[in-house]
Amino acid sequence: MTIQENRMDKGIRNITDSLPHRTSMVICLKCYFRWLAIRPVQVRLDQLECKECGPGYVIETGEILE
Ligand SMILES: [Zn+2]
Repeated sequence: MTIQENRMDKGIRNITDSLPHRTSMVICLKCYFRWLAIRPVQVRLDQLECKECGPGYVIETGEILE
């Protein structure tokens, strides 16, 4: 049993689970690293951080996610 399943059994939920989230493919304009970003809706793109370059270089790719 995973930790997540164990928490669900006990009725414990992460408080951020119920907040609205946005999911999109993003890319760092500096190093071209690409990843699926899942973040609370109030987090702006300029606040997203590339693991190598830090914040300020990330844009959405516009890729449609099914
Ligand atoms: Zn980068």
